[in-house]
Amino acid sequence: MGRLFGTFGVRGIVNRELTPRLAFDLGLALATYLGNSGRVAVGRDNRTSSEMLEQAVTAGLTAGGCDAITLGLVPTPVLSFGVRHLSCDAGVMITASHNPPEYNGVKFWGSDGAGFSREMEREVEGIVEAGGKLVGWNEVGEISAADVIEPYARALLERAGKLRREWRVVVDCANGVGTLVTPRLLREMGCRVITLNGQLDGTFPGRKLEPVPENLGELSRAVVACGADLGIAHDGDADRTIVVNERGEVMMGDRVFALAALHRLTERGGRRIITTVATSSVIDDVARMVGASVARTRVGEPEIIGEYRRSGGDVGGEENGGVFFFDWSFCREGILTALTFMKALDAHGGPVSALDSSLPRYYQVKRRVECPEEKKAGVMEALRARFGGQRLDLTDGIKVNFDDGWLLIRPSGTEPIFRCFAEARTEGRARELAEMGLRELQDAISRT
Ligand code: MG
Repeated sequence: MGRLFGTFGVRGIVNRELTPRLAFDLGLALATYLGNSGRVAVGRDNRTSSEMLEQAVTAGLTAGGCDAITLGLVPTPVLSFGVRHLSCDAGVMITASHNPPEYNGVKFWGSDGAGFSREMEREVEGIVEAGGKLVGWNEVGEISAADVIEPYARALLERAGKLRREWRVVVDCANGVGTLVTPRLLREMGCRVITLNGQLDGTFPGRKLEPVPENLGELSRAVVACGADLGIAHDGDADRTIVVNERGEVMMGDRVFALAALHRLTERGGRRIITTVATSSVIDDVARMVGASVARTRVGEPEIIGEYRRSGGDVGGEENGGVFFFDWSFCREGILTALTFMKALDAHGGPVSALDSSLPRYYQVKRRVECPEEKKAGVMEALRARFGGQRLDLTDGIKVNFDDGWLLIRPSGTEPIFRCFAEARTEGRARELAEMGLRELQDAISRT
């Protein structure tokens, strides 16, 4: 059997890679991992296959002696909250996040509401391979249902508080589960909310689920057409948030992260930000503004959690708009990011473009270059030799720091490609750095 778990649990096309049989095996393996007893919360998004997979996972869990508590349709941050709120031993979320509708996924969560570490996933993988342990007829677990959206909403609203001004917000949840929570919470904070793609539909007819500029054209137009103050977009399971300003311009994820982090650290204190090597230098500016430090990790959600477990921290985030508030949860919190951004805007006074301009401007160029898997190690070696003597950061791939910007070349962990990111204070310099990176990369690939 190949590796089951990817960068975010088990993902695949439904009934091809991810079948109800595999979902059953995963449920049984988790129950076996937990010692064939305990309570497990199960949540799902609104994909056409999610209920089927939920039932299969639940059957596996109870056949393995665990009690299953089904939470029904919930965003991923609500599942994470539910695991702790219901004092469960683990959680399972059925979602494929931003992937197309034919995909689905199964992701495990620990009793602290953090996603399983890679080591824990490897262990469950081993159990799937060996076969989980079925319990006797009189030890089969029970299935019950619980609503955690209400307690989640109450707790989050209590934390966020009311807004002073009535902001007009267009919320685009891409026909996904975010629509069950975010528009309502923004309304209760005092916003005037207009929803876009706000009805649940597992075929996701409104837009593609990844909240990136090319998928947010309709939101940008709606913000301008409605004369709204901003737009807020989630991915399919609402653990990521992207903001569109009052002119309809999409803000990059690291700027949303930076502004949310700045507000969080200003309001509640804290000295340590955790992010990856791919995040904009704007996060270093934020750290300087509040006297905090920045720890940079390899790319990926488990890396940020891992660094938090090693050395602690207050806020974490990625350039894709996934933000952690460690005093609230160990899950990327798209919903709290939206609420925190609104509080930052409310404190600043707006408009969003001016709030954004309160941080230094950077320009980014992101490219990808195809490269066969077997060449990747050799290419990395050639690049290290080529850039030797410069200010290098080898945390993940190779990052070359310059006085006026940086260049990051990184092999993808899941695709036969290299990613090439450049950032600088001017657009011309960012392009120049990216071109240099692409040139060196192609040269290294052709010589390897
Ligand atoms: Mg997601």
